[in-house]
Amino acid sequence: MEEHKSGQQQNRPLNGVNLKADSLQLNLLTAMFDGFSEALVVANTNREMVYVNNAFVKLFGYSQQELYGHQTKMFYADQADFFEQGKKRFNLKNDTAPDTYRVTYQRKGGDQFLALTTGAAMRDLSGEVIGYIAFIRSARSAEQSLDTLQQIHNITSDTNASYDQQMTSLLEVGLRHFGFEIAIISHIMDEDYVVESCVDVNNELQPETHFDIEGTYCTHTLKAGQTVGFHFTGESDIKYHPCYQNFKLESYIGCPIKVDGKLYGTVNFSSHTPTAPFCKDDYILMEILADTLSYIIYKKKSEQRLMLLASTDELTGLLNRRATLARLGEQALMSLRANYNLSIISIDIDHFKNINDKWGHAAGDIALAEFAKTMKTLGRETDFCGRIGGEEFIFVMPGSGEIGAAQVANSLRDKLQNLSIQLNESAATKLTFSAGLAVYQAKESIEDFLIRADQAMYQAKQQGRDQTFLASLVERIEKEA
Ligand code: GH3
Ligand code: MG
Ligand code: MG
Repeated sequence: MEEHKSGQQQNRPLNGVNLKADSLQLNLLTAMFDGFSEALVVANTNREMVYVNNAFVKLFGYSQQELYGHQTKMFYADQADFFEQGKKRFNLKNDTAPDTYRVTYQRKGGDQFLALTTGAAMRDLSGEVIGYIAFIRSARSAEQSLDTLQQIHNITSDTNASYDQQMTSLLEVGLRHFGFEIAIISHIMDEDYVVESCVDVNNELQPETHFDIEGTYCTHTLKAGQTVGFHFTGESDIKYHPCYQNFKLESYIGCPIKVDGKLYGTVNFSSHTPTAPFCKDDYILMEILADTLSYIIYKKKSEQRLMLLASTDELTGLLNRRATLARLGEQALMSLRANYNLSIISIDIDHFKNINDKWGHAAGDIALAEFAKTMKTLGRETDFCGRIGGEEFIFVMPGSGEIGAAQVANSLRDKLQNLSIQLNESAATKLTFSAGLAVYQAKESIEDFLIRADQAMYQAKQQGRDQTFLASLVERIEKEA
């Protein structure tokens, strides 16, 4: 090594004492630098280590005793870099200011990582170089963080992506940043931890999986109320935690997500292999991710609420006219494509005006709400009903023909016969209805379909009410004739 030519060493004045790992210096360095989150190494003019701080020990995996007296060469993944840095800055003639450069280092065990190093020579009062000092940050904490931030920005500004896509993309970005395998957005209610969204490199974890919160590392995150990380669980205080015992997750970093000021869940990343200790940038990044997700979740929930409001009838909680017709349209298309029956019953309450006239509008509202409640108890899971107008409803039954639909109409009639609706403290009433049942005919428009059902309902009214009429297929028969 050029900088350590014996000639240069001999020419140095005696007072330019080379740094030694004597106890005084060590105590001073320890007091000054052990609390630093950045890794720090101090070496003498032979580039032999005389001090490394705690962060350095964590980053490289060696104990201080294993390092002192050894040259820093042992950390360079490529030995040529060691000599190049010697020529550039770690030499006795160095007169340049400290600067930052990228080097690939290797940990104990051979694991390699890219890092940013700020290195310089140290001088005594006479200006003589007495040793070298270097701060080391793994690239994940610096350049990679910037790159990750850029990716987060790209995702949130992509107006074409759905909220769900944005959430998945953010999880993928986090996975890349940490080099982990599992990313989760959890929704936590009391003790229940539900995987709302996840990316699992091994495809083992699925959304909607439930865990007991106490069995997840997130319980620590929630207790702390901020980002918590474990980079080597097997060697930590929490190695007896059920999450470690059950899943052997060595690395974890998680941050609480608050939506609208309330705890919603967490965003967390984990891996089966240990990782380098998390640094400040990692923690900041987690806060940014959690805030970004919080905003996306808030927007998604608001939109869902708006859509629900816009499609729901306030009084009865049924679908409103617009939403009912839209869903009926979708069902008509699907029934054609998949070749199954689609039936509707058009329903109009009999003499409803009398209720308003006799007991007032509020009583009428109660009767309507009770009628709707009874309708909701009927039919199959895929059936739905909507309020089309004042006291007019339709009941939609995908997959049902005449017979199935007639059964639904009959059971509504039966239930109402046995239901006395309390309108106020002293008055109660029973309701009857007239109905028209129609089965969807291929190529028929939704309007024609509804008209046929309504016409059958009007016939039921004309014939004395409280009955169901089957819609004729006259139109089609005429057309075919
Ligand atoms: P029919 O057997 O011929 O259907 O008689 P009807 O009285 O039910 O029919 P009509 O169409 O004459 O009257 C419907 C009544 O429903 C009139 C209207 O005041 C009432 N109505 C419509 N919407 C509401 C509502 O939201 N609340 C209340 N209380 N009444 C309503
Ligand atoms: Mg009516
Ligand atoms: Mg009516």
